[in-house]
Amino acid sequence: MSAAIDYEQHRFAIGAALSGCGYHAIDLEMLFPRISSAQAAGRNPAEVEAFSPCGARVQVIAKLGPFTYGSRWLTRLRCERCSWVVALNRGTVEQEIDLYTAEAGGDRRGELLRDIFTSILADATPGPDSQAGHRSDLLAHAARHRPVLTVCAKCSEAGLSAAHGPSASRCPHAAVVCQECSFTAGSWAGEWEGVTTDECVVASPCSTLLALADHYGLAVKGREECR
Ligand SMILES: [Zn+2]
Ligand SMILES: [Zn+2]
Ligand SMILES: [Zn+2]
Repeated sequence: MSAAIDYEQHRFAIGAALSGCGYHAIDLEMLFPRISSAQAAGRNPAEVEAFSPCGARVQVIAKLGPFTYGSRWLTRLRCERCSWVVALNRGTVEQEIDLYTAEAGGDRRGELLRDIFTSILADATPGPDSQAGHRSDLLAHAARHRPVLTVCAKCSEAGLSAAHGPSASRCPHAAVVCQECSFTAGSWAGEWEGVTTDECVVASPCSTLLALADHYGLAVKGREECR
């Protein structure tokens, strides 16, 4: 495990969820001493149970590498709860905010999410270092309801000009949705897993973001048309 990860630089590694899907963080600073004591007691280190900061039981897989922004394993199914714990611990809060706001594709709703994150960071009490707490979990809750720019199936398959002609500058079906509130396809959909279908598409900002905006006294531009 240690061979693949520069432990000095990366305190957190990626762990694969043992039930359900998704990638969590593993705090190596907590795990390594437990592995050492298991070895000292003559036990198989592979039998040491690993838990993520969000409390999921995870499997340590060395090839997944460190829990970082560049990791290809974390482009989808990244656990937001773990991710915020890592960001607060490593001091990468700005990168963490950019990660989620970018998914709005430049839409103003991304800025609303940024304001919500900033308000939570200024208000909620910091939790224990490297563990989930009120602040990190509230940030993760907002992150799960982030505005995501979506385009039609043709656009995502073949690209904008193939779908709507060379003069198209934007997909006419583009929408900014909340994927957490919308229905998305499960593992039965194969490569389309996680994609929204037509039956239940919830526009962003969803009521979760609006409740947070209300609580922090943030103005929501064009609120009525968004509903
Ligand atoms: Zn997690
Ligand atoms: Zn939502
Ligand atoms: Zn399109």
